[in-house]
Amino acid sequence: MRSLFLSFILIFFIGIFAHAQQLYMPRNIQIAVEKGTRSMDGNPGKNYWQNEGKYDINVTLTPETKTVSGVEKIVYSNNSPDTLRMIAIRFVNNFHKPLAPRGGYTNPDILTSGLDIESFSIDNEAYQIDSKNWGTVAAIRLKKAILPRTSVTIDVSWNYPLSKQSGREGQIDSTTFFVAYSYPRVSVYDDYNGWDMIPHTGRQEFYNDFNDYKLSVKVPKNYVVWATGDLLNPTEVLQPEIADRLKKSLTSDDVITIAGFNEMQQQKVTQQNDWNTWKFSADHITDVCFAASKNYVWDAASVIVDLKNKRRASVQSAYNDTAKDFHHYTKWSQNSLRFFSTKWPGVSYPFSKMTSFQGYADMEYPMMINDATTKDFRFSQMVQDHEIAHTYFPFYMGINETRYAYMDEGWATTFEYLIGQEEFGKAHADSVYKMFRINRYIHDPSAEEDQPIISMSTQVSGSGYGNNSYGKASLSYLALKDLLGDTLFKKALHHYMDAWNGKHPIPWDYFNSMSAGSGKSLNWFFNNWFFTNNYIDLKIDNVKKQPGFYTFNVKNIGGFAIPFDVKITYEDGTTSLEHQTPAFWQKEQKENVIKLSTDKHIKSIELDGGIFMDYTPEDNVWKK
Ligand SMILES: [Zn+2]
Repeated sequence: MRSLFLSFILIFFIGIFAHAQQLYMPRNIQIAVEKGTRSMDGNPGKNYWQNEGKYDINVTLTPETKTVSGVEKIVYSNNSPDTLRMIAIRFVNNFHKPLAPRGGYTNPDILTSGLDIESFSIDNEAYQIDSKNWGTVAAIRLKKAILPRTSVTIDVSWNYPLSKQSGREGQIDSTTFFVAYSYPRVSVYDDYNGWDMIPHTGRQEFYNDFNDYKLSVKVPKNYVVWATGDLLNPTEVLQPEIADRLKKSLTSDDVITIAGFNEMQQQKVTQQNDWNTWKFSADHITDVCFAASKNYVWDAASVIVDLKNKRRASVQSAYNDTAKDFHHYTKWSQNSLRFFSTKWPGVSYPFSKMTSFQGYADMEYPMMINDATTKDFRFSQMVQDHEIAHTYFPFYMGINETRYAYMDEGWATTFEYLIGQEEFGKAHADSVYKMFRINRYIHDPSAEEDQPIISMSTQVSGSGYGNNSYGKASLSYLALKDLLGDTLFKKALHHYMDAWNGKHPIPWDYFNSMSAGSGKSLNWFFNNWFFTNNYIDLKIDNVKKQPGFYTFNVKNIGGFAIPFDVKITYEDGTTSLEHQTPAFWQKEQKENVIKLSTDKHIKSIELDGGIFMDYTPEDNVWKK
């Protein structure tokens, strides 16, 4: 009796697993699920934890020597169940050191001597630190272990030079500086990997804890400072008229010039103390950075980002007066914040401010972007949209970009495309998306570089990194949107974003969360897009006329489960169009037959994937 019952149970469960396709999961992620920090239902596990810090940072920027020096106090909480016997300190700007490993060639003006730690103590116990040979992340053996669910206070003082050539940070001109990654921080300790010890090589971007920050920046008079967070003391650092304009801009739809070119030249903007200390604060955010200039102009406005409570966010721009595109940046950012808050992703802009700063990076930071000026206004606006879109991934959602860059670049690329449709029309957005995001990938002459999207971002080289992070990932998100339809896709996306806002989702959390949020098992789709060497290549074959209907085969040579249109032209000159969603490939992923009822004679059939650019478009067309 008993054994018969067990066999019955066994058969029952085999039946369930045969239906629900499982996704490959590395052993460390399986262990996280077993420990209950992650879960298969797509929500954070019941034992989920993440560590955090309270940072009180005081930095001085000395324009004469182009150096940054600082002191900070970090209250670091170990919320994990683990005893920490070492602590990892990350300083991305050590990437400038000549011996640092880096992803590509560099030139001498990028190189600096890097970080110099002057003092370092934990709970008032001094450590002798020699940071001369530190890379971008360094392990410090602790004199006293940090026990589970306790915190320590870390005091650090340091200095470092700003590189002459500016990449993501550094000197912009002789009196303008973009100062990012400027303080030593505790690297992430997480539930699936432990300490994040992956060196920064200049390509992959953020993976940071959500921390609370107080940031004060000391600069000489006539330097304006823009930073992540709310400016706490505008009247202490700005002249009354300027502080007044800034205040007005917080409720203004119209763009207000806060500091014009002549006012900056005539020293009418900042208080005339020898040095001013600008104070900012931002909570539960993954980073803070700042910029300072003695010659940039500054304008600002605001925009409603929450229709329910009419909450406004400040939008500001700081730029060289000669940059024509930047004169539009404040207006454009109002549009970005409105679109992202109300359309896609349709989540209220989560911060109080967004500052666009003219530099050379084309790079996002929490509440700030750093963009190069261009003469092509549409291109400038597209880049601005892209960088602001990053607010959601990786900042609203604490993505580990070092390992899973596709979890943020793919979304920024998708939102850039969707807002582009509204700003410039679908035809323009399609052509730009194809040109900048897909064309190089699908025609990559070195296709071996092209690895499954799930590959760790540090382990794909050459074009493989960009292909996975931007184009292919974005196509997967847009294919899923097509599969589910806009309403269900948005519901699932919001389910995922609500569950993981302010936390650290990994790809399996995304997969499980989207399945749960849509109420559909999407593993077949995620397996097809993320875990294979698929690409995009359809082929039409075997067109047959029968009495009253046609049949033809659609072969999926490349393998990706893409949506496509079937465009028919009849001999009488009429045409028809039928859309196939990726569901076309759910049961049979290699080849399917389409039956078309008609008494007319077909002249030609075309399979058109649109932005899903085909590797060999010539075999997508059949002509009689
Ligand atoms: Zn990006």
